[in-house]
Amino acid sequence: MVIVLGPEATQEDTESIVALVAAAGGDAFVSRGVSRTIIGLVGDVAQFGTLNLRGMPGVADVIRVSTPYKLVSRENHPVRSTVTVGGVPIGPDTVTLIAGPCAVETPEQTLEAARMARAAGATLLRGGAFKPRTSPYAFQGLGEAGLRILADVRAETGLPVVTEVVDAHDVELVASYADMLQVGTRNAQNFALLQAVGAVGKPVMLKRGMSATIEEWLMAAEYIAQRGNLDIVLCERGIRTFETATRNTLDISAVPVAQRLSHLPVIVDPSHSGGSRDLVLPLSRAALAVGADGVIVDVHPHPEQALCDGPQALVEDDLRELTDVLTRFPPLLGRTTATLPEPATA
Ligand code: PEP
Ligand code: MN
Repeated sequence: MVIVLGPEATQEDTESIVALVAAAGGDAFVSRGVSRTIIGLVGDVAQFGTLNLRGMPGVADVIRVSTPYKLVSRENHPVRSTVTVGGVPIGPDTVTLIAGPCAVETPEQTLEAARMARAAGATLLRGGAFKPRTSPYAFQGLGEAGLRILADVRAETGLPVVTEVVDAHDVELVASYADMLQVGTRNAQNFALLQAVGAVGKPVMLKRGMSATIEEWLMAAEYIAQRGNLDIVLCERGIRTFETATRNTLDISAVPVAQRLSHLPVIVDPSHSGGSRDLVLPLSRAALAVGADGVIVDVHPHPEQALCDGPQALVEDDLRELTDVLTRFPPLLGRTTATLPEPATA
């Protein structure tokens, strides 16, 4: 943290700031330039948070030079991380496809969607058993029965499972079935939930809050990390803007920005951003081109019958095109397409 003094600041002003910082247990280093004086603070920024430095006489500005998130910050960890989910990597060397139905509806629908996903090159299966719906009258998901279906489909297809948890009380239950826990956009600042998923020891996919700044998103990740879990994948899923032509506005810049600020992998959800099948492929291409570490897409065998988000679900023909993108793009970007781990040999 750096304090910039205004031209009117006196020697007494400087000394009282230094004394205040020292009393809070920090060190203050005064540097005087020709046109301005700055005071560099060294210590834990949290120590200084309660001091009213901006209100001190002579202070023109207070600039934070170290990020407020520590554990997820790239400053503290320049090498980008890879998170492994059921043996499948998500990180800087690979492109990972996560696919499946928005919601688990029936065993048949989930298995069929998983087979489509796997045939398209997906190495992780998505599917919601607990659905965070905007309307209390909409399908809320099958709950634990849905988790059991996901576990059966994993056994059948070999695809590790990513599924959402919406309530801190369900974290242990969901973690007992899932390979990765998803925290959705509506819960992206539910701090009790973030702490609970941080404590349970499973990888977490943290979606960006639909109105969250990138810093708020990373602070949410810090809640998870602070509970001891650094296996976090960030997911940009579109933000709320004035534009209504798309369901959300995919903030494509958020991918390289988040990767610059944090060592965590960053993936994109083109299904929930665009909200429409025809946008999923172009947005997936865009995501890979800016350096996303993977994409998560909705797939459904019969989207017209889907209980949730049918209009954005991909069908067989779209998946062929997506596979083509996932085969051709990664080598151009110096990456490989993530694969499932080799089955253990007896
Ligand atoms: C989902 O992925 O099923 C979902 C509800 O997404 P989001 O939280 O991004 O709306
Ligand atoms: Mn959905």
